[in-house]
Amino acid sequence: MKPARKTLRRPDELVAAGLIAHERRGEIEAVAARYALALTAEVAELIDPADPRDPIARQFVPAAAELDARPEEMADPIGDDAHSPLEGIVHRYPDRVLLKPVHVCAAYCRFCFRREVVGRARALSRAQLDAAMTYIRAHSQIWEVILTGGDPLVLSPRRLGQIVDMLAAIDHVKVIRVHTRVPVVAPARVTAALVRALRAPGKATYVVLHANHARELTLEARAACARLIDAGIPMLSQTVLLRGVNEEAAALGELMRALVECRIKPYYLHHGDLAPGTAQWRTGIEEGQALMRALHGRLSGLCQPTYVLDIPGGHGKSPIGPNYLARVGGTNGALRYEVEDFNGRRHAYPPARRESSL
Ligand SMILES: *Cc1c(COP(=O)(O)O)cnc(C)c1O
Ligand code: SF4
Repeated sequence: MKPARKTLRRPDELVAAGLIAHERRGEIEAVAARYALALTAEVAELIDPADPRDPIARQFVPAAAELDARPEEMADPIGDDAHSPLEGIVHRYPDRVLLKPVHVCAAYCRFCFRREVVGRARALSRAQLDAAMTYIRAHSQIWEVILTGGDPLVLSPRRLGQIVDMLAAIDHVKVIRVHTRVPVVAPARVTAALVRALRAPGKATYVVLHANHARELTLEARAACARLIDAGIPMLSQTVLLRGVNEEAAALGELMRALVECRIKPYYLHHGDLAPGTAQWRTGIEEGQALMRALHGRLSGLCQPTYVLDIPGGHGKSPIGPNYLARVGGTNGALRYEVEDFNGRRHAYPPARRESSL
């Protein structure tokens, strides 16, 4: 096996790699003192330093604007704390819980919705993990456990395997879902041993890949995903709608097609959460809806994610359109609608009766 190439963690390393200008080092030191910083070699090599609009740099190279928090932004934008009965567990919906075994990621996305937490808090201790398992065991309505963090695939295959085995021993847990960015940012971590660790006899394991631009799906990343899928692990994707990365229909469509070509079904397109210092990436909701309209009908149904907003305060995710159906009158038995097609034309439903049939 090739030795792991070096992860860049310090501003001076980013300067040396040509990713930030020397004059900017001071301001980037200030950002790095506040928020976790890491770019894997794979991420650094994907960046074209000559392109000021590089969509990979925009996601991973720190910028001074990250320290400009807006009044509407929040440290806990999706309200995890409000639904955390104990360390490492978020239980918002009855049938599924988040289990966060670790808060570390292989590379840190600058727009991260958990940016106030990632890279700081330590991994769950053995006692905390046992307590989390006791909680899951005690709640028989928990059908699915979602491993997230941080990025659970930074764990060694041995530790990941222990967690999966503990979950697999709980009868009512039928589905184990892993949310990760590792196949993109550190594909070499997806070894045969890691893939084996994710499988549990009698349970379904799903992996949800976080990817935001088609260029992230390098040959190495595609091969890492193929190792998971070939082992019988279905993959879905989640994408964050980001200005300067994927807010144009062509870029977003190219990403969705690339995912489907890798046998990964696009699942969610997330509207940007109100995490502190992330205004530079957030689009308007109408822009997001217009993008979804652009994808609808022009790309295969396989390429369509659901556009969702995580409601601040911990109220969960809801689809936010666009809506293709409008009620246009009628009462009870005679309800009438208009449905919009993929060209933006409206059609009555049920269709108006033709004169001849009267
Ligand atoms: C996002 C999330 C889930 C998963 O939601 P799905 O719609 O099933 O993908 C579960 N629990 C919490 C707390 C979440 O934030
Ligand atoms: S991989 Fe996820 S948790 Fe980690 S920095 Fe990126 S968005 Fe945040």
